[in-house]
Amino acid sequence: MTGSSTALGTKTAAALAVEDRALAHNYSPLPVVIASGDGAWVTDVDGKRYLDGLAAYSAVNFGHGNARLLDAARAQLDRVTLTSRAFVNDQLGPFAAGLAELTGTDTVLPMNTGAEAVESAIKVSRAWGYRVKGVQQGKATIIVASGNFHGRTTTIISFSDDPVAHDDFGPYTPGFRTVPYGDASALRDAMDDTVVAVLVEPIQGEGGVVIPPADYLPSVRAICDEFGALFVADEIQSGLGRTGHTLAVSRVDVRPDLITLGKALGGGIVPVSAVVGSRDVLGVLRPGEHGSTFGGNPLAAAVGSEVVAMLGAGTFQQRALAGEPVLRGLLDDLVGKGVVTHRVAGLWAGIDIDPALGTGKEIATAMAERGVLVKDTHGSTIRFAPPLVVTDDEIAMAIGALESVLRDRS
Ligand code: PLP
Repeated sequence: MTGSSTALGTKTAAALAVEDRALAHNYSPLPVVIASGDGAWVTDVDGKRYLDGLAAYSAVNFGHGNARLLDAARAQLDRVTLTSRAFVNDQLGPFAAGLAELTGTDTVLPMNTGAEAVESAIKVSRAWGYRVKGVQQGKATIIVASGNFHGRTTTIISFSDDPVAHDDFGPYTPGFRTVPYGDASALRDAMDDTVVAVLVEPIQGEGGVVIPPADYLPSVRAICDEFGALFVADEIQSGLGRTGHTLAVSRVDVRPDLITLGKALGGGIVPVSAVVGSRDVLGVLRPGEHGSTFGGNPLAAAVGSEVVAMLGAGTFQQRALAGEPVLRGLLDDLVGKGVVTHRVAGLWAGIDIDPALGTGKEIATAMAERGVLVKDTHGSTIRFAPPLVVTDDEIAMAIGALESVLRDRS
């Protein structure tokens, strides 16, 4: 196994030293110091350009410096940015109405980060369980899937099976039961009268772009209906265009009761998340029971409204659908040449590299040296999720960089 290493640029080395001075070490980033971005590309402090194959975990689906989103943000910056929900602002109502229409729902609970949206969905599910389903107080159970990633709060990591995310952060929040992802009969076996919700990612992003069998999500829907439980789909990474659809559940024509959205909802500018669903479910929350100082702020709502308008036109979804066969074809050609297997949904790929050729982090580092940024997940898996403005030629360039890395290390 061989590996090349390029000397760091002068400004990059200096910036990395500053980065290390006072920051907590809860990340281990690649040694790339980004100074600016444009469309699918970013430029580092030394002027080197990289194709962005991560898009901030799909938060930058619409590209860096998207003019429509920046204009919406700038216009709102000059008006008013934060009011709190103690008063009504003129941006939030239209944003909620637009997002409800886009997602085929009728009610929106706005928050900021993805983890907050998931926490909110958990609270709503539990309150619904006690107030509507009639579960005995303190007994509400939520079923989750192995390999899940729903965020980093104490409650959420309580039901993570990733030791890095979970261990040493207890005592843990009770009330969760884990079943294997993609296995409908295991889910069915785990159901009982205390189950208020089943929480799953339609495609597991952090898990390595794991796509469940085609009948899995329809089966989850049917099982939830049979047992009177809510189906909660976490679309924070899979939603808003990434898979070629507004919602990844639409790939298999399924309608959850609650959907968590985040990341791209803020257009890569501000943190915006939401739980969307029906009034029957989200209506269980009474004034004062849940909230957030920043959730639904006018700046977030103005940007979110522009995101909704852009997704309403469908062009980003179409671009992801059109790019999917290109990406899949290029990866197919690498199977047996360093790629063990891959999974593609829209412009989203999980790529399992032969572990003999390196860890995912080593492959990602070598690709960065060739001007392509990707992120490793577990073991020797990397994922590719460029901004949806990426061209076919740029996809080919990125996968060409992967091919060259694999060839060099074979
Ligand atoms: N849910 C899913 C499916 C995610 O992929 C993520 C983040 O990667 C989250 C929730 C948490 O979002 P945030 O980092 O904004 O809290």
